[in-house]
Amino acid sequence: MKMVFLGPPGAGKGTIAVRAKEFFNIPHISTGDLFRSNIKNETQLGLKVKEILASGGLVPDSVTIEMVKNRIAEPDCKNGFILDGFPRTIPQADALAEMTDIDAVVNFVVPMEEVVKRLSGRRMCPSTGRLYHIVFNPPKVEGKDDETGEDLIQRPDDKEDAIVHRLEVYESQTKPLIDYYRKKGLIKEIDASVKPSDVFERLKAAL
Ligand code: ADP
Ligand code: ADP
Repeated sequence: MKMVFLGPPGAGKGTIAVRAKEFFNIPHISTGDLFRSNIKNETQLGLKVKEILASGGLVPDSVTIEMVKNRIAEPDCKNGFILDGFPRTIPQADALAEMTDIDAVVNFVVPMEEVVKRLSGRRMCPSTGRLYHIVFNPPKVEGKDDETGEDLIQRPDDKEDAIVHRLEVYESQTKPLIDYYRKKGLIKEIDASVKPSDVFERLKAAL
C-alpha cells in the first residue's frame, strides 16, 4: 500500500502514521523528519534548509523531490510506504506521479482553530521524534520524554509567527492538492478532529 497523508500542519498526520506503519508494516517517510535529521547531523542538506524550516517556508521542490526519490528507492519501500508531508506543491505531486503509482491519498480534515491549538502545544523528544501535546497527550513527567527522560523541545516552527506563516503556505501551496488528487479519484477524506485512536479507526475504515 502506497499512501500519502495530506492535511494542514498539526492535523495529526505524524501521530497517525506511527500507528499506521505498525499496522500496515510499511515505512513512515516524513519529509519534515528527514530535513530535521539532516539539520541535527549538520549535513550539507541540513545547513541549506535550516533557516527555511525555522521560518516555516517550503524547501525548494528540486531539493525535496530528489530526497524523496532516493528514499523511496530503498528496499524497505518495495511493499509500500506512508508519505507524510510530501507532496506539498503541485510540481512535487507531478514528480511523485512520475516516480510511482499511489494507491490512496488520505486527507486529514481538522478545523483551523484546532490545528493552531495542536501546533502551539506540540512538544517533541529531540532524539526519537516522539510526539506529545501539553494538553492532549502530555508526558508522564512534565517536559520529559516518557522513555528516555530527555528534555522535550518545542520546534522553532511551532512558535506563533512561524505557525501563521506555515498555515498561509498550506492554504496557497498545499491545499490545491486536494482537488488535484480528487480529480484522480484517489482522495479519502477523514474527519481527524477526534482523538487519535478514533482517527486511526476512521483511517482503516476509509482504506
Ligand atoms: P508539520 O508536521 O508541522 O506539517 P513537517 O514536519 O511536515 O511539518 O515539515 C516541517 C518543515 O519541513 C516544513 O515547514 C518545510 O519547511 C519543510 N518541509 C517538509 N516537507 C516539505 C515538502 N514536501 N516540501 C517543502 N518543504 C517541506
Ligand atoms: P502533523 O504531523 O500533521 O503536523 P502531529 O501528528 O505532529 O501533526 O500532531 C500535532 C500535535 O497535535 C501533536 O502535539 C500531537 O500530539 C497532537 N495531536 C495529534 N493528533 C491529535 C488528536 N487526534 N487529538 C488531539 N491532539 C492530537
